[in-house]
Amino acid sequence: GVAFLDGQYLPMSQAKISVLDWGFLHSDATYDTVHVWDGRFFRLDLHLDRFFGGLEKLRMTIPFDREGVAEILHNCVSLSGHRAAYVEMLCTRGASPTFSRDPRDAVNRFMAFAVPFGSVANAEQLQRGLHVAISDKVRIPPASIDPAIKNYHWLDLVRGLYDAYERGAETALVLDFNGNVAEGPGFNVFCVDDGKLSTPAVGVLPGITRRTVFDLCAEAGLAVTAADVSVAALRQADEVFITSTAGGIMPVTMIDGIPVADGKVGAITRRLTAIYWQKHEDPAWS
Ligand code: PMP
Repeated sequence: GVAFLDGQYLPMSQAKISVLDWGFLHSDATYDTVHVWDGRFFRLDLHLDRFFGGLEKLRMTIPFDREGVAEILHNCVSLSGHRAAYVEMLCTRGASPTFSRDPRDAVNRFMAFAVPFGSVANAEQLQRGLHVAISDKVRIPPASIDPAIKNYHWLDLVRGLYDAYERGAETALVLDFNGNVAEGPGFNVFCVDDGKLSTPAVGVLPGITRRTVFDLCAEAGLAVTAADVSVAALRQADEVFITSTAGGIMPVTMIDGIPVADGKVGAITRRLTAIYWQKHEDPAWS
């Protein structure tokens, strides 16, 4: 892979930052991840919107505008030589030269990188559907502070993952403050009931793949709402799937050892997945 750091393109192994960077010490950072499939970015504008929105809310400044960042991302991909890549743009508060406790003294640091894509779900998992555990861990900031700020804070999600592994599941969903289902480590969740879709509304990152599902539903004439999803509702759903930039739409066919409906990937999940990948061929969606 190739990184962009301090104005230079570097091999990933040479891209290093100070341990005194507030991004590392305080998780004082924002980032966004976008994927390149077959040499093409998917929904890059939406990822840039979210990234620049996070920078503004965190009062970070970088010496590039949207076009500048887009160009750096394209350069990282082409220098890496990969047709399928996981591409990240990030900005940390940076390090203060005097170790001052005032965030205004730090020099904000923009970075980007493109690494060969490793799918979050493998072909076998996509075929049979994932086994998810519902952890009792509660998703806390950043989602509850400002869901639109994408931040590395994952302690709740990582603890949820260990709960899932202990129960023989492959990944986890954690809860919101009211005990409803929130999201998982790197993904949003949807359920389908009587042909209608719903996805949690609070305490979650407004994922771009989640937004894409809304767009696809509008096109396909499917009803979709963002509303509370209780644990019981998820367990009783006709279909469940999870969404992320790094994996697209991924079916869930087992929750805590119990099959979702008949335990097979549902028809609406299949239909949306097919349209999702078709859109990658459509320049209007790149
Ligand atoms: N929730 C969390 C906590 C995430 O980290 C991610 C992905 N980075 C998502 C949801 C999914 O968002 P997107 O569809 O934009 O990748």
